[in-house]
Amino acid sequence: MDLFEYQGKELFRRHGIPVPRGIIAETPESARAATEILGGTSVVKVQVQVGGRGKGGGIVLADSPDDAEEAAARLFRDGFGGRRVSRVLVEERLEIAGEFYAAMLLDRSTGTDLAMVAAEGGVDIEELARTKPEALRRLHIDPEIGIHPYHLRALTGALPPEARDLVENILAGLYDVLTKEDATLVEVNPLVLLDDGRVFALDAKVTIDDNALFRQSEIEMFKSVHPIDPVEFRAREAGLQYVKLDGEVGIIGNGAGLVMSTLDLVQQAGAGAANFLDVGGGASADSIATSLEVILSDPSVRSVLVNIFGGITRCDLVAEGLLEALERVTPTVQIVVRLDGTNADEGRKILEDAEHPRIVPARTMLEAARRAADLAHGEAP
Ligand code: GDP
Ligand code: MN
Repeated sequence: MDLFEYQGKELFRRHGIPVPRGIIAETPESARAATEILGGTSVVKVQVQVGGRGKGGGIVLADSPDDAEEAAARLFRDGFGGRRVSRVLVEERLEIAGEFYAAMLLDRSTGTDLAMVAAEGGVDIEELARTKPEALRRLHIDPEIGIHPYHLRALTGALPPEARDLVENILAGLYDVLTKEDATLVEVNPLVLLDDGRVFALDAKVTIDDNALFRQSEIEMFKSVHPIDPVEFRAREAGLQYVKLDGEVGIIGNGAGLVMSTLDLVQQAGAGAANFLDVGGGASADSIATSLEVILSDPSVRSVLVNIFGGITRCDLVAEGLLEALERVTPTVQIVVRLDGTNADEGRKILEDAEHPRIVPARTMLEAARRAADLAHGEAP
């Protein structure tokens, strides 16, 4: 099974190989939103399993969210290389100082793995082997022995000295992908050295052995993988557990148990959760603020329920975080807040004193769930 670039990169990430920050987009609008999240510029990369995307207009350096939206719209409309395009990968722009090539594959003729590294990237590797063989290093690796530092040093010998250590780490990671994920090919073209000295896998081509899919259930899941939407991406980057659902109440809680019981109560109150977000144990003011921003960026949210049980988390800090968040975002919906546990009285007082028109305090979980459900159904606060 051939993986898409974004799936290959997901495997790379899991094995510690640096890849650019990236967001999958299925619409031109989300390509725009992704570019905004990535700082206003991006690289829009068509996700199809055909080569030569760079030369054929399938990779667009977008200088603005507008550019990215336009590029994505074109790719979705026209397709690429005769294929329909349903996804583009929107990645951060990197300042490239040098391009290399790295690959590992199962070599059936020798019954070993073959590793290759070239000091030039973004080029046709067969062509390079013919015209400039000294730039390419090839090494067979006996799977009984595995990859060792002397292999890595030999492979990186033709690269600029300042890049060798980092490339060695990446090669060890690629060998991990090859062996642990049952890949028959992992290819990185190009592997890039950045202006600041870091090395990234800019492209990923991974083929998984179909005969091994039965024991690679996670990879099997790639067959039906759901794209990461920009809201989920922001939550993940902030270290928050965010789950999108199809109701209308946005839920923020701390701790999985509390969040789950909040979902149940909202349901009992006759509404459904639009999403939920677990801010975790040590919920700080900043994480509450980010949580609220994330929850409110979901257009199906009609009301928000914040349910915090203070333990290590202090309710007064949560209250401050909420007020801080309301300076950063301007919600059009009401936010029901129930605070209990450590410093709950102080927290409630802070909210009461603030008299914020969007905050609706509630004493108990049940009362909070009912308020949030009513508000979601359009009742005045
Ligand atoms: P392929 O043509 O399908 O193999 O697509 P790649 O992912 O290998 O990208 C092709 C080329 O696009 C690379 O060799 C780079 O030169 C260029 N490229 C991709 N991402 C970036 C980026 O973040 N910054 C710059 N400057 N160039 C990029
Ligand atoms: Mn490539």
